[in-house]
Amino acid sequence: MLFFRAGSFWVAWIRSKYLSTSPLWALNEKNVTYSWIFRKLLKLRPKALQFFSINIGNGDSTFFWWDPWTPFGSLYHFLGSDGPTRLGIPLFSTVAEVRTQNGWSLPHARTERQVLLHSFISTISMSSANDTLVWAIDGLPHLSFSSKAVWNAVRISHPKKSWAPLVWHKAAIPKHALTSWLFILNRNPTLDRLSTWGFDIELDCLLCGLAHESRNHLFFECAFSTEVWRLITHKLRISSSPLLWDEILLWLPTASTSKHKKLAILQGWQGAIYELWRERNRRFHDGLSVSPVTVATLIISTMNSKCIAMLQLGLKRGSSLLQYWLN
Ligand SMILES: [Zn+2]
Repeated sequence: MLFFRAGSFWVAWIRSKYLSTSPLWALNEKNVTYSWIFRKLLKLRPKALQFFSINIGNGDSTFFWWDPWTPFGSLYHFLGSDGPTRLGIPLFSTVAEVRTQNGWSLPHARTERQVLLHSFISTISMSSANDTLVWAIDGLPHLSFSSKAVWNAVRISHPKKSWAPLVWHKAAIPKHALTSWLFILNRNPTLDRLSTWGFDIELDCLLCGLAHESRNHLFFECAFSTEVWRLITHKLRISSSPLLWDEILLWLPTASTSKHKKLAILQGWQGAIYELWRERNRRFHDGLSVSPVTVATLIISTMNSKCIAMLQLGLKRGSSLLQYWLN
């Protein structure tokens, strides 16, 4: 309502009292000068944020650090409170101020999250139009606010938390876990999502060219990805495994009765997601490509290194896991 009913007296009052100098996302919910009800509203921001996205036009009215103009939500929270200092971008800069005629004035990416941000903004083409706020549920834009649709979206988000052990497990590689987590939330800029945000782009999958690119297609309905996933599961001596995204999420928790084999399967699944997305980005940005065998070999070699690193830290599971990944 605060964003979509500009004519309301309450909205006008809240905007002039609290939002004249700061975006909603930057206000401190513990500020005792705010009314009790307004502080309660501020506490609901993380829940509300998942439904907002901004289609960037000229970038003039969008705050770089605060507004949800990327799939990662507020960049202040995504990159951390030291982000403005590290990137040299002031706390209340607009997106337009970070964009110059020569491209984005961002330093080289130094963390995995900064790489994700670079990867996303390279897909943005700005225009002279105003930025527009979109209210979307599960990535689908809605023309008006529906409390029923929002309730259903909030309610069914609870079972998703059961996927947390699949992402943040004891043998995870942080950049693999992060990429998998963003795909579980469907927050990465796959072509189908970019198109729902209003970008006029070709939707053909960059890996196979045979279907439209979406998360579910990439992991692992795509012929290229199927082959990588087959090589990984074969390496782990698994005779059959699902190929559909939803089925894999149901299968992973019970994929093996052996604790270590289950960890190895989670490593392989996340490694496949990470390397396939990397291969997709290589094709998208640089026009370079490698074969499914090369991608799978890279995943296996990364897991070998991870197991050896665990061994060096004195973690016994390193040797158990190495048995699965050893060349
Ligand atoms: Zn494909």
